[in-house]
Amino acid sequence: MEFRLQRTNLRINDTVTDKRAGKVVGKRKTRRVVFLGKKHSVMTASAPIRSLPEACDYMLAQLRQHPDRDAVAAWEAAAAGRCRPYPVFGLGHLAAPTDTIPPPDDLVLPEVQMPATPEGDLAREVIGMLDPLKMLNPISASFGLGKGPGTLVTCFGIPLNPEAMDAPAYSKTIDQVLAEPPPDPAIAGLMSTMHARIDFIKARTPEAFKIGLPDTQGPFNLAHSTVGMEALTAPYEEEEKFRALMERITTFWLAALRNLRSWIGEARQMPHDRTGKICECSVNLVSPDFYRQHILPHDCRIATALGPLHIHPCSGPHVFHATLDNLPVIVTEAGFIARAAAGAISVDEALRALLDRPILLHVGQELPEGREYEFICADFDRYAANPRQLFGYTGMHWRRKDRPMIREIHRRLDAYWTQRYGSCSRPGT
Ligand SMILES: [Zn+2]
Repeated sequence: MEFRLQRTNLRINDTVTDKRAGKVVGKRKTRRVVFLGKKHSVMTASAPIRSLPEACDYMLAQLRQHPDRDAVAAWEAAAAGRCRPYPVFGLGHLAAPTDTIPPPDDLVLPEVQMPATPEGDLAREVIGMLDPLKMLNPISASFGLGKGPGTLVTCFGIPLNPEAMDAPAYSKTIDQVLAEPPPDPAIAGLMSTMHARIDFIKARTPEAFKIGLPDTQGPFNLAHSTVGMEALTAPYEEEEKFRALMERITTFWLAALRNLRSWIGEARQMPHDRTGKICECSVNLVSPDFYRQHILPHDCRIATALGPLHIHPCSGPHVFHATLDNLPVIVTEAGFIARAAAGAISVDEALRALLDRPILLHVGQELPEGREYEFICADFDRYAANPRQLFGYTGMHWRRKDRPMIREIHRRLDAYWTQRYGSCSRPGT
């Protein structure tokens, strides 16, 4: 008798049922399915992946089987102000370099048995897209680009330091940056590598796989990363020079984004990447007046070019308000972060400020030890009044060893949501 395993994300001790025979035929044990009774010809949970198309099929099948973890569907519902039947939220522990114990996971992804070629590596990346499922966190069929916040800093001739999590290796002076020719947005720094990667992904994977934009930061964050502390003092001492720097960076930023979008193409774009995003982390280090006078004009230029923006205020209440009050905003962020540079905007204050404007709020919070479940329930309760919200949490006191307990909290919160909002319209209904 031939038997194909329908659910390939089985947890340890989950049973395997032969649907046709209508009986339990096996149990998931460690990395393999252990079958009871007579042998079956099976595709086990850990059947290795041997080709890129196989990896893509497997990933997309998993995505279909987990509508409750579909990040893109959740984003689309939140952006449209539509109530969603699943919370689709992130819940995680602190990723600490000293926390090196093997994570106690009960989901084992199939091994990719392919050589270390570009195609083999892409297949491993595809299966890696399912990694968040180990923590019951949202997944999407999407590739990333670039090397984090430093990606565009490379275009100004500054290398990244892999030993410092790809932070810029050093900064330049404003004079140095202005003395050099403006970077070419087609080939400078990591741009040509990203272009080649986009072409490779498009040639080798089906269109269902999207390509996310790299972390492009924003003009002032880039200025701060490129020229260091001078970005904070030059506006007072050499205003004209600072403006010239910001203009050069903004011009480049817009051209780089335009190139990336056209290389990726409409069909491969992540829905949330259709909104221009500015990260304002460094604005936490300056006053609202400084922001309005020296940074806002450049952000406005971006809004004029791209339309309403996604703002990452990096927690700062004054950044949240200054951007919301002065720019067309369509997505913003709020939540409790303990060690923020200039305080943290609470979810209540943010929702009050949004009034009933159609703005998506990304709630990102650190959790109070021992009250994690209740704390998140309170956020979920606020969803009743405003469905334009997405949620993500980190337990700074949690480590890898806590994963089984974190998953348990996650399941309880999923159940809490189902009880409150489970009858909300499901995709396709
Ligand atoms: Zn930030």
